[in-house]
Amino acid sequence: MRTHARVVIIGGGVVGCSIAYHLTAMGWREIVVLERGDLAGGSTWHSAGLVGQLRSTINLTRIMMDSVALYARLEGETGVDPGWMPVGSLRLASEERMSELRRQAVAARGYGLSMELLSPREAVALFPVMADDEIVGAAYLPTDGRVDPNGLTQALAAGARARGAEIIRQARVLKIAVSAGRVHGVETDQGAIRTEVVVNAAGMWAREIGRMAGVLVPVVPMEHQFLVTKPIAGVSRDLPTLRDPDRLVYFREEVGGLVAGGYEPDPAAWGLDGIPDDFTHRLLPPNWDRFEQLGRLAISRVPALRDAGIVRLINGPEAFTPDGGFLLGEAPEVRGFYVAAGFNAHGIAAAGGVGKVLAEWIVEGEPHLDVWRMDIRRFGRHYRSPRYALAKTIEAYARHYEIHYPFQESDAGRRLRLSPAYPRTVALGAVMGEKGGWERPNWYASNEGAAEIEHEPRGWMRRFWSPAIGAEHRATREAAGLFDFTSFSKMEVTGPGALRVLQYITANDLDKPVGTITYTSMLNAKGGIECDLTVSRLAAERFLIITGAAFGTHDMAWIRRHLPADGSVHLRDLTGALACVGLWGPRAREILRQVSDDDVSNDAFPFLTAREITVGQVAVTALRVTYVGELGWELYAPIEMGAGVWDALWEAGRPLGLVPIGYRAVDTLRLEKGYRYWSADITPETTPFEAGLGFAVKLQKGDFLGREALLRQRQEGVRQRLCCLVLDDPNAVAAMDEPVCDGDRVVGLVTSAAYGYAVHRSVAYAYLPVTVANPGTPLTVIVDAERIPASVVREPLFDPRHERVRA
Ligand SMILES: Cc1cc2nc3c(=O)[nH]c(=O)nc-3n(C[C@H](O)[C@H](O)[C@H](O)COP(=O)(O)OP(=O)(O)OC[C@H]3O[C@@H](n4cnc5c(N)ncnc54)[C@H](O)[C@@H]3O)c2cc1C
Repeated sequence: MRTHARVVIIGGGVVGCSIAYHLTAMGWREIVVLERGDLAGGSTWHSAGLVGQLRSTINLTRIMMDSVALYARLEGETGVDPGWMPVGSLRLASEERMSELRRQAVAARGYGLSMELLSPREAVALFPVMADDEIVGAAYLPTDGRVDPNGLTQALAAGARARGAEIIRQARVLKIAVSAGRVHGVETDQGAIRTEVVVNAAGMWAREIGRMAGVLVPVVPMEHQFLVTKPIAGVSRDLPTLRDPDRLVYFREEVGGLVAGGYEPDPAAWGLDGIPDDFTHRLLPPNWDRFEQLGRLAISRVPALRDAGIVRLINGPEAFTPDGGFLLGEAPEVRGFYVAAGFNAHGIAAAGGVGKVLAEWIVEGEPHLDVWRMDIRRFGRHYRSPRYALAKTIEAYARHYEIHYPFQESDAGRRLRLSPAYPRTVALGAVMGEKGGWERPNWYASNEGAAEIEHEPRGWMRRFWSPAIGAEHRATREAAGLFDFTSFSKMEVTGPGALRVLQYITANDLDKPVGTITYTSMLNAKGGIECDLTVSRLAAERFLIITGAAFGTHDMAWIRRHLPADGSVHLRDLTGALACVGLWGPRAREILRQVSDDDVSNDAFPFLTAREITVGQVAVTALRVTYVGELGWELYAPIEMGAGVWDALWEAGRPLGLVPIGYRAVDTLRLEKGYRYWSADITPETTPFEAGLGFAVKLQKGDFLGREALLRQRQEGVRQRLCCLVLDDPNAVAAMDEPVCDGDRVVGLVTSAAYGYAVHRSVAYAYLPVTVANPGTPLTVIVDAERIPASVVREPLFDPRHERVRA
């Protein structure tokens, strides 16, 4: 075995082979794939092989579309037949599901996929052995299909080998060498290989492989079953695949019979104490009792199953994740250690596109798509608890085929991270949501009925909504709101090299006097926005960085990867150490004055400055910033004194109209003020110039990461701009990804949207080509499959001169 490689890929399943295929296609050599058994011997060989493209987000859909394009050309390219059959797919819908399908058909159009909506009779014509009970329609995607998982793995491996990749079977990785936060090699039962890049594509073993490197990979092996029948009259080879989500089952043809599998509501995890050493090309014993419920549902859709002879019940384990999304990218803990695992029974469909994404990530430093929802850095340290990860994973599996409504919350693993204000907010009637493991008020039931709210959203946006959101929004604009913001991710960068490194990784200028707060992005080499945060210079060599609750692990990893190795800069996570209470609204200063002896006047404490003050008995770090567009402060206290800050403000503020505010109102407030949200309005795919954040870029400050790309873009001009749209119908509120159309042409997708309770408008943001980005341009937004006239407007809609935040 060679002793040095440019990249070592652990796992010769469909995903590992696809990564090798794409790395070699990008011109990289000395690629080694290590497989402990034979190729495809993990989850791949027993897969049902369905390949569906339309997914919940555009970039996941693009990945699947890349797979389909690759599978169609693989045989011509490699000489190995992957068994690709573009037979099309059907998805059935009952009444409620039909509105989901209508939305998906519109989304598919936005994504460039042709999806047809069929009547029950048309669906039966395509899949003659099914009954049409309780369906009101179906979606048909003619370019979907199925593939032979073994053939596909062999074809990808052949392509990789033809370009020099070495695929070594019966080679088990035993250890991974890591020092100073970097990977340096792997040790196998056949010898050691030095390398600077390791890819963990070990499927359900990925957690174990991660542990060898000190990396958290929260995959949970789960049993997944499907039945294979003998030939059934009326089943032909070109039968489309069929998904019946309301009955939790899927079907495809197999040698004249059917494969019928599904997602039961009470799934079973497996191998939690370790996967047996000899588990390769093996299955689990069939669990007929557990399959029975799916079997009954499958028969009710395809009655011929009742009398069909059974070939066997396949029970195969597969890697699932706590939120049903993939786990991709460089691990936050170890540089050079990449992960591609957790495919939740979609790894065959995803492998082609995922291989491309990973290869780009390794070769170019970042993928061409924003893959945040698949990024391993979305999982924080609290997922180190196997029990927590398991509870979340079981829920995600069981809900796989449920309709996913906007703002729907997860119920599993709740009450994990509690802020000191938590008991107070519960007592005030908080309706809780969860972010990054934190319990956070979405709204307060006690605020329902507190104000006359003229708005009520239609359709899906009505499901998880309350008039309290509007009342809280108004109270913040008219008096003051109290916010529990402890879930913010907080970190500190200190040391003699702190300013130098921060200047290099941020786009704004941080070389400002102590006590200054700067809003800034951190960019990748292409100028895309990797992080969006505020940086407060608390001392010459001490900076406090605040970012969203869900982004802490991600942003810390981004900063850490740029720190010098000489020890001149330290990065510390303060999230669990500090409580944060927010106070905003026109009466915020009046309230703060009652509980603080410090001068909080505008002269003494202007906008975008940080000071040490006291609130009641507690010494706090007060930041005069806002994400809601009002006068006010974020107040940071040691966690054990956070409740004291909340109590002092609450008691002083009550007589002045202070109201507790939840996160849903934060979203409506920030949106009418035009504040961007990373992962939706701004992403690694979009630059500050496109996003309207040019004011926070200082090209003259000297070299910084992404500057070259921005200089180029400034010269060439932007092709798209993030625009604010107002919908004619105020009760039609978009969520995310709804198409924006110019006539019949889809020109953009909604990035985020809400009703603005102070501007009385339904507001949506979208990136639009500059040709249709001017204020006044009439467009339409398709909300709940309904075309709603809209127009581009000048932004922000609320307080465009920023007088309130500077008051
Ligand atoms: C019953 C069932 C039905 C499915 N149906 C579908 C479907 O219809 N469509 C779809 O898209 N997906 C489906 N899937 C999911 C799909 O099979 C998987 O997502 C996919 O195969 C995962 O591929 P992988 O390469 O990540 O993992 P694997 O195929 O598990 O490969 C990982 C490899 O890593 C190797 N490995 C582990 N540890 C080591 C070590 N220490 N050293 C060296 N090598 C090691 C293993 O031997 C294994 O071969 C199904 C899964 C199951 C179980």
